[in-house]
This record gives sequence, structure tokens and C-alpha cells, in this order.
Amino acid sequence: MPEEYSKYLQSLNDRQQEAACTDISTPLMIVAGPGSGKTSTMVGRVLMLLNEGIGSSHILAMTFTTAAASEMRDRIGAVAGKAVAKELTISTFHSFSLQLCRSHAEKLGRTPEFLLYGHGQQRRAIIEAVRLMENEKNRKNHDSGKLVEDSNGTNRLQYFKDKSKKWQKFVSQAKASGKTPAECRQMGDEIGAVILGNYNDILRSCNALDYHDLISCSVKLLSDFPEVFKECQDSWKAIVVDEFQDTSAMQYSFLQILASHSRITIVGDDDQSIFSFNGADISGFDSFRRDFPDHKEIRLNKNYRSTRCIVEAASSLIQNNVNRCQLKNVLTDNSSGSKITIKECHNEDAQCAFVVDKILETASNGSAVKRSYGNIAVLYRRQVSGKVFQTVFRDRKIPFNIHGVAFYRKKVVKAIIAMLRTTLPGCDDGPYHQVFKALLPFEKEEKKRVIDHIDKISTIRKCSFISAACDIFGAKISGTFKRSQLTQGRKVLFTLEMISKLAHREQSISAVITSVANMLPQKYLLEQRAVADADGGKLLNEDTDLRSVLQYLLDDVSDFLATPLITTEEKKDNLVEEKGCVTVLKAFIDFITGRERENFRSRRHDNEDSVTLTTIHQSKGLEWDTVFIVKANESEIPLLHEFNGVARVNGTSVEEERRLLYVAMTRARKKLFILYVIMDSNWQMLQPSCFLKEIPDHLREIQAELSIKYLQTKHPDSSKKGPQFTIGLPIGEKSSETDMVPNNFLNVQINEASKEPTELMEDCNGNSFLRRFSAEDR
Ligand code: ATP
Ligand code: MG
Repeated sequence: MPEEYSKYLQSLNDRQQEAACTDISTPLMIVAGPGSGKTSTMVGRVLMLLNEGIGSSHILAMTFTTAAASEMRDRIGAVAGKAVAKELTISTFHSFSLQLCRSHAEKLGRTPEFLLYGHGQQRRAIIEAVRLMENEKNRKNHDSGKLVEDSNGTNRLQYFKDKSKKWQKFVSQAKASGKTPAECRQMGDEIGAVILGNYNDILRSCNALDYHDLISCSVKLLSDFPEVFKECQDSWKAIVVDEFQDTSAMQYSFLQILASHSRITIVGDDDQSIFSFNGADISGFDSFRRDFPDHKEIRLNKNYRSTRCIVEAASSLIQNNVNRCQLKNVLTDNSSGSKITIKECHNEDAQCAFVVDKILETASNGSAVKRSYGNIAVLYRRQVSGKVFQTVFRDRKIPFNIHGVAFYRKKVVKAIIAMLRTTLPGCDDGPYHQVFKALLPFEKEEKKRVIDHIDKISTIRKCSFISAACDIFGAKISGTFKRSQLTQGRKVLFTLEMISKLAHREQSISAVITSVANMLPQKYLLEQRAVADADGGKLLNEDTDLRSVLQYLLDDVSDFLATPLITTEEKKDNLVEEKGCVTVLKAFIDFITGRERENFRSRRHDNEDSVTLTTIHQSKGLEWDTVFIVKANESEIPLLHEFNGVARVNGTSVEEERRLLYVAMTRARKKLFILYVIMDSNWQMLQPSCFLKEIPDHLREIQAELSIKYLQTKHPDSSKKGPQFTIGLPIGEKSSETDMVPNNFLNVQINEASKEPTELMEDCNGNSFLRRFSAEDR
């Protein structure tokens, strides 16, 4: 065994070594709490596989996020060398499935150039699916003589858009669980069946797949086509999966088939499952036990990451969950460290001021000359809570990285990507729409009129948006538009032609992106900056500044070229001779569509020594010496979910919310601060998160005056009605597995002053919804 390998394995503890060195043909399952070295052990397992003669190109390592994939590649590269690490396939489920689907597209009724629909394109397809259903319904009503209801006379498009939000969620959930329209129908959901069917038809006719399709289509390819199965079996001799608790039922089926004749290792922690909105299903652990009966199961129980105080506090919290697959007793030899600080702040500004003071204090740490920020993170539930930190950090010259920012949803970024998409064969209407919106130099209303007219012509002539645009602007005379509008329309067509030529020339992908970005009119960029100013008060300028956007996109190109997603010939020297760079561009767009989905932004550009600002979801698997969990308020953690129009917390989601706080707390190595605010920007009183009561007294130091009674570890006397509302599971009561929660399960008291409090909330996907309490909840 190479010396570096054995050195690495020796650095592991006995249990970790036992796991890494288990006979490679035995299916292995490692279950352990946070910071216990699961990922470290998995690296050891890969070294063992290499040592036993499994070629690096035959090892498939699956992770759940792009961040986790690059983290694992770095860790393996540090021991086995960069060359070996580069040959391994370390991939997210989605990018792996995408490659498989592209290679066998015709078996799925698509061509290999099929379009991969991201969030926006999926939304447009859903709007169309809803429109088709409504039209069909109205036609039937009309035929049967019933009154035809115009859904919303003046603004039908808005009506479909409103409806589409709900249906997008429905379609995503149906697809994650592999539901077909026929199954919806069998369950009595006729409307759901029609929408799902329409949506699938639209995607088929547009030669497109969405993210959920990638997984289900891969399962189909493996199970229905023996030649595909054989090909995969020959390619992958060993599979390792990190963060297994995040796999959905469909992803599990995929793994199970793929691993049936291969060697498999899974690593996970059910207590850290926080992606149920993406279909993550912890019953995968039980399925694994059932489907691989000769497996070996190893538990690691020593936490190497955090102080004893943090480990014990986190364990006390998670013990309140009932639905746990495996109870873990996490211990640590680390010193007890200082108590967890729970800090009450008057409002978000005061919260930010406290964090800034502590950061400056921590970062100096004895040295006033050189401050060190890289070991500090600020974690929050929703991105919006991070905004104030960005402004203040900038003013106070505290360097910071932002993870989990919806970078790819910014209009400037979307415009550049749309311009690139138009060069791909079979591009649909969506990107052309976006390009016209970005490039036409008119006021909003005028722009809308021009685009609506093109849409109308394309519907009448049953042709694509771009053909209609060519017809209109190519014609010499048009009564519909003024001369200036015609000229500008022609200019847009000309720009599109230039982009297409650029992409077909022998150009590096970075050069194409740079040229395309520079084609955006100054007027548009200034407009976007103004929008960002109004939205976040100077906050987002950095992202609307073209240079900064371009830098991030070029960092994406570097990441893309460093990832073995497409064949080496295609990427050769960052240049594709003969074919132009269209093929690479297609793969690059797939790559960033994946990043868009995860809200992942390249970290190459980030300053290493800077404070990390991130959502809790994006902080998974990572660690810092000092962690601030901010806005730990009721209604943030736990965040309420809308259920049949009513905001509710049900037993299962309370447990997921508790897991989220658990993940956040266990990111800290040495010092943990948990902060909450008592008043929002509208002067509404807020409560601390009900979970804070679950941290034992002796492990926390409370700096609070007003809400002290809500933090008492003993459950307050239920006969006393407090003036404010609190939501959560009363201590000592156990959550039920049912979806509907009996009313007495919720400890909801409505604030007397506001009667029916409502608040615009945002879920972890960035979808907003109205949180309200109905009489039913009282
Ligand atoms: P998470 O559940 O958060 O993903 P994990 O179980 O994957 O955590 P790792 O990230 O592998 O844990 O390890 C946590 C920390 O503990 C890392 O800093 C790692 O270097 C360290 N560590 C792991 N095993 C050992 C060991 N045997 N000796 C010393 N340090 C270790
Ligand atoms: Mg890990």
C-alpha cells in the first residue's frame, strides 16, 4: 500500500479503520452523528478500493450537493494525488443521471441534445399545462351548455401564473416519488392527473427533461434496458455514497439497481436529513438493510469536531425527535469549552451589531494587527436574514463570502445564460423571450407590447417565438410597430446571429461568455442596478455589476473544466476545434443549471480569510470554529408550512425543523452563539424558537431579559395564557406521524393585539407564501 494511504488510514480511529478496511465486496453502511468522521472514513474507503485494485475510473462516488462533491475530491486529492482524484467520478446524483440520459436519450423519446429544464422553464411549462387544462374544462362546459367562466377576465396570464405555483410544487412532489398520471387518477385526483399528463406531454414535445425526470429516466434505463445495465455494470465496480440520508426513494431505487452487482458503501446520519422538500426519505436506511442482507453496519460515536458542551447541547435537542431510525450516543474527548450563548436582541440591527462586535473581538484574538475571519460563520434559515449582515459587513470592512445566494436567478445572469442557450440546437421560446427582454432598449410597457405582439403572431402562425420575430422584424413594412421599434427588433436579431456565430467559431468557452456578456446594453445594466438598489439598498450591486457577474461565471467555467463531466477530447485545452464550442457550451449550461438548482456559487473567487454567510441548508458537512445562528425565532425555526391554505406545523415537519437547528449547531467547533430578535421591522413582537428551551440550562448562558420565561427549560404552566403566541410541541409530548395534526397538538395562542397575524414568508426554495393563523388553529 502506498505510504500516504497507510498514513491516512492510521490517522483514523479503530472503528473508522474497521469501516474503511472492511472487505470491499461487503455492502457497508456507516451511520454516525455529525463530526464523527464519516466523510473522513469514506475517503479511507476509497483509498482501500484503489489499493485493492479497483481502477480510479471504475469508482463512482455519489454526493448530494456540488459543494460536497468538490469537498470530497479535494480530500481524496490531498492523499492520493490530484491526478487520481481527477479520474474518479465524484458526482451529484443529478449530474450523473444527466450524462446517462444524454447517452441513451433516444430510448427516452428524446434526442441527445434534449433541453434540461431549470426552475424557470419548468414554471413556464406548468403555466402552459394549467392553461391547457382550463381551456379543456371551459370547452367541455361550453359543449354541455354550462356557463363558461372566464377565470379572470382581464388578466388570464396572471391567473395561470398564480395557479402554477401550487401546481409546480405538486408536479415536483409527484415526480420525486415517481407518481404517474394514471396513479393520480387511481387515487381520485383527476385534476392532478391531467396537469401532470399535460406537463409530461409538453416536455416531450419540447424535447426536454426536468431534474426529477433525470432520476426516474435513469431508473427506467437501468431496469428496462439490459444493455444499459450491462454498460453501467462494466463501468462501475464500486459505489460510495455520502450524506445518504438525503436520497429520495427514486434515487435509492437507482442506487439499488446500480449496486446490485457492484460494491457499495453508504454513509449518513438520519438526524441530519433536512431535504424532505426535495423528496429526501430516511427510510432508505431500512431499505438498504432489507435489500443488502449481507451488509455490515458500523457506527461511529466519537465527535472530533466540537467541544463537549456543543456536542451535549445538540444531543439534548435531537433527543426530542421521535422518528429517528437509529439512536446514536455521540461522545467526545474534546474539552468542554464555553457555554452556548443565547442572546436576545431588540431587532435585526441590534442582532447584527452584536455579531459584528463579537466577530471583531474573535477575529483579533490577541492580535490587533492581523485579524483572522476564515473560521467564523453566520448561519440563517432564510436568505433574507443575511441581507443586513452584507450591508453592515461591507461598511465595517469585514471580508465575507456568501453561500447559497440565488446568483443564477439574478436577471443579469439569467440574461447571459439565455443568450448562450439560444446557440444550442432546439432552443425553445423561453431563452428568446429573456433575450428580447434584456436587449430591447425600451421602457417596460413598450417592451411588453413588442414581446406580446411577437407572442400573438407565434400563436396565430403556430410557429416559434423566434420565427415570428424574424417574420415581423425581417419584413420591410409593419403597421404594428414604430420605425424605432422595428430597428431595435432587427438589432436584437442581429445580436443573436452574432452570438450564434461566436459559438460556432473556434473559441474558448470563456471568450464566448465574455463577448456575450459585453453585448448587454448599458441601459439594461443600469436598470438592474436600480432594481437591486430599491430591493436591497445597495446590497446586491455586487451581483449586478457586470464585471463581478462575469468573474463568477468564469470561475464556473474553471470549475466545469476541472470536473470530469464530458470527454477529455471535448474539453481539450479549453478549446474545441472543428465543431466550434457548442458541444462544450451545452455541457457547461447543464453544469450551471445544476448549480442554479442548488443555489451553489463557485467559491474560487472567494477570499479564503473571510466570514462565511450562508443558509443552514448550504452549511451541511462544513465546520467553523465560531458559529452564529441568527434569527432563531419562532416561525423561522420552525418555519411554518402552508397546508391546505392554512399555516401549520405538523409532527413530521417539526422534527425536520429540529434537525435543521441540529445541523446548524453541530457546524461549530469551539464557540456557538444563538441569537433571536424580539421585534420585527413592523414592530410586531416575535418569540424565541421553541427549540431553545430544549438546550439544558447548564450548557447555555442566556443573555435575555424580556423573553426569559419562554426560554425556561421546564414547560410553562399551560393554564396560564401568555400574551403572545408560541408554536411547537409542548415538552414531553411526542409528535405523531400523521399528516393532520389534531388541534390540541398545536400550542397556538393568537396575539390579542393583532388577532390574525399574517406574514409573508419564504421557504427554503425561495418560494414565498402567506403565513397566517386561522380560527381553526386556536
Ligand atoms: P458531518 O456529519 O457534519 O458531515 P462527518 O461525520 O462527515 O461530519 P468529518 O467532516 O469527516 O465528519 O470530520 C469532522 C472533523 O473531525 C474533521 O475536522 C476531521 O478532520 C476530524 N476527524 C475525523 N476523524 C478524525 C480522527 N480519527 N482523528 C482526528 N480528527 C478526526
Ligand atoms: Mg460529512
